[in-house]
Amino acid sequence: MVQDLSTLTAFIDGEPHRFETGDTLLNFIDRHKGRGFVPTLCDAPQLEPYGACRVCSVEVALQADGPRRVVASCHTPIAPGMHIYTESQKVRRLRKNIVELVLTDHPLDCLTCEVSGNCELQTVAAKVGIRGVRYPAGANHLDRAKDRSHPYMTSELSKCINCSRCVRACDEIQGQHVLSMHGRGFNAKIIKGLDQSFADSECVSCGACAQACPTSAISDVFFSKSIEATKKTRTVCTYCGVGCNLNVATKGNEVLSIQAPVDAEVNHAHTCLKGRFAFKFYNHKDRLRKPLIRQSDGSFKESTWDEAYDHIVANLTRIKNEHGGNAVAGISSARCTNEENYLMQKFIRHVMGTNNIDCCARVCHSPTAWGMQKSFGTGAATNSYEDIEHTRCVMVIGANPTEGHPVTGARLKQHIMKGTPLIVIDPRKIELVPYAKHHLQLRPGTNVALLNMFARCILDAGLVKTEFVRKRCENWEEFENGLKALDLAELEKITGVAVETVRAAAIEYASAEAAMSFHGLGVTEHEQGAKTVMLISNIAMMTGNIGRPGVGVNPLRGQNNVQGAADMGCQPHQGAGYFEMNDLDVQKRYTDFYGTPAPTEPGWKIPQMFDAAIEGKLKALWLMGEDVVQTDPDAHHVRHAMESLDFLVVQEIFMTETAKYAHVILPASSFLEKSGTFTNAERRVQRVNATVKPLEGTKPDGQIMCEILQRFGFPQADYTPDGVLAEIAKIVPFFKGATWENLGDQGLQWPIKEGGIDTQIMHQEQFARGKGHFHYFDWKESTELKTNGAEFPFILTTGRILEHYNCGTMTRRTGNSEIVVQDYLSLNPADAQRKSIRTGDRVRLSSARGEVELEARVTDEVKPGILYTTFHFPEAMVNNVTGQGCDADTMCPEYKVIAADVEFVSAGKPKKKRMMEMV
Ligand code: SF4
Repeated sequence: MVQDLSTLTAFIDGEPHRFETGDTLLNFIDRHKGRGFVPTLCDAPQLEPYGACRVCSVEVALQADGPRRVVASCHTPIAPGMHIYTESQKVRRLRKNIVELVLTDHPLDCLTCEVSGNCELQTVAAKVGIRGVRYPAGANHLDRAKDRSHPYMTSELSKCINCSRCVRACDEIQGQHVLSMHGRGFNAKIIKGLDQSFADSECVSCGACAQACPTSAISDVFFSKSIEATKKTRTVCTYCGVGCNLNVATKGNEVLSIQAPVDAEVNHAHTCLKGRFAFKFYNHKDRLRKPLIRQSDGSFKESTWDEAYDHIVANLTRIKNEHGGNAVAGISSARCTNEENYLMQKFIRHVMGTNNIDCCARVCHSPTAWGMQKSFGTGAATNSYEDIEHTRCVMVIGANPTEGHPVTGARLKQHIMKGTPLIVIDPRKIELVPYAKHHLQLRPGTNVALLNMFARCILDAGLVKTEFVRKRCENWEEFENGLKALDLAELEKITGVAVETVRAAAIEYASAEAAMSFHGLGVTEHEQGAKTVMLISNIAMMTGNIGRPGVGVNPLRGQNNVQGAADMGCQPHQGAGYFEMNDLDVQKRYTDFYGTPAPTEPGWKIPQMFDAAIEGKLKALWLMGEDVVQTDPDAHHVRHAMESLDFLVVQEIFMTETAKYAHVILPASSFLEKSGTFTNAERRVQRVNATVKPLEGTKPDGQIMCEILQRFGFPQADYTPDGVLAEIAKIVPFFKGATWENLGDQGLQWPIKEGGIDTQIMHQEQFARGKGHFHYFDWKESTELKTNGAEFPFILTTGRILEHYNCGTMTRRTGNSEIVVQDYLSLNPADAQRKSIRTGDRVRLSSARGEVELEARVTDEVKPGILYTTFHFPEAMVNNVTGQGCDADTMCPEYKVIAADVEFVSAGKPKKKRMMEMV
């Protein structure tokens, strides 16, 4: 039905304007007149309307000359034909009175304070025409002590105007509920936790409260400096795959502070503490600033860029001539841009002449890419973050979103707190578990057994969407027959989860109008990782949860650009755009495009590269931004591989554990100093814009790769982000419509068609491969589970925490290292009692590969027999104990199942509160 446009019209001070369904008066006025046209105090665009301060009051009438009444515009819905008067004498007087009363209980010097350019109260006071306050100053909270207990968060609550924006930000955005309004009337005040300091409270330092506060009563340690900013640049966070947009305030070449853009579709004025605060690594004194060349005595000597390039060209040419291109390999970086990854694989394939190119997707989501390609035809998230608002059931499998993907985790939490049922499938009690309706706390390494049970329960309950399966999928019979043959009692024993518990969750998922699954490395980093991904895909297909809003299979990608690194061809079997390198037509296509022959032999995956180095087949390795010694499993083996190489080039920003083995180190620039694109976990290609110039002596990785291509005589233009993106768009079909300009501020989700038409939901009419393919697999006990016995009776599983990122080279050089100072080992109270271990004690963690020492946390977050730790600190070097088991299809390492033991070493006291929360 065509709607009569006149029904969508209202008037602002006599002018007709069109409104949108659901508008409040304030939304409507902001859109047509600009934010600030009507003054506000308790309102913020990222928060729900509140209607407390009444500063946004306007007069309204249902007809032009009808009776008027005064309403708060922020929470009053608009009606057709409504007349809004924003500047009547009545509302001007009302606003002025309100602001004047607010100011009586506020430090009066704020009105004239010159450094408070971030103070909205000052702006509002000026707008309503206040130059002084007629009443005696109140003293209700002017004496509140400042809180400087936290490395990032501060409070000076004498400036507080009790607008509750901080409380609402903590509740509505992060969902942490740390802040609250305590007391009534004149005694009302904001408190943290049980009236604690920031450091002692449960604050996760996301900074949403500080960004929401209109007076900097709650602020962050960087924000006050942003008043000096001469430039603000929008870019994308370098840490996780959520891909939060950031507004970076700079002065000259100094980054002053970071805020979250309110209009960002990805993160809606939100970040975690890494994106907002953990940026000080960019000019840390430890940054590499000169190329380094290893000397014959083993020491490094500083060199010029020319000398370093000459040395590289001479050595790689020698090795290629003596041993062939296949004696050279490259490992690219999910931390680098699409353009840089693209150039890296181009160099390895079309200059070195080998398919020996891989990236860290190998050690995280390669099973997702492989498994989803087999099921759907595309190895990427089927839906968008936006779909969270439309789903009726959330299933989180082997992921810990509030720690690993914090902004998406908070968004999920918000949706779940509004009543959407949550299913968590995880061996640990992750932070989301208290919000979950179903927690299937399975034994590590039994995902396939559990998901087979899950699918069988859907089948038994008659909840298969047969029409969807018949029309859109193939090979259902094989899957159905496999499910029918399962022995559920046996699977119950294997997984440690009762059939009835699984059945209740399966029925919840299958009967929801729209169910959305999210998975992480707890799915992929197993010997049956890719098979688990295909099973998750099966479950989505059998319930029709594909191709519409609020459904789908959505991998939570770990690193900022791990999706993009694989899209750009940084994997041995597929080139840029996921074309199979063993296909003759593909080889011809690349040969024609680049003007040099495409390699024909299969390349090595990362674990195969290490083995080949030790066997003497791989002579030279080029690492762009990867610390494989600290982050890859079985660190002894990785070190041995690094030592075995004739020539190792490392392109890095810090001297990492891996860089210590290099023959040449090239000092690269950080994300704040470069331009290009990152692709986030929802396939959104977003512009990364340089906020400052590269630190003196360093170069962006894209420039380094272009200069190296040129040094080898390849006709490569100098680096420009738009130039390389234009080249990518010519060879990668799903980037065809992407240009630097049309990516804009919000980016575009691939596949991007000509004209910049992007794709929020994939597989809507048909799957990328035509029909969705069902696969059936039996559960298989992994090698580590088999060795789990008398010598190594525990199962160790590893992961990440909120405050640190992977090898921690960046976060350990920021205030985050004051919040979490080391890796910890979690163990169950029953095991702790048996082993006489208490929280804070030093313990020895051992496996068949080696042993490390850690501080213990005793917690029921893990079941008896299970241990958990992170791998962020080189001092602990947890990967000395992880093993060589890997996914059978992709060689993704099995970080999640390690047969291990733990022993008491010495008594100690816990160092930091944050890690004691679950004790
Ligand atoms: Fe960065 Fe991820 Fe945090 Fe967003 S959620 S700020 S992308 S680390």
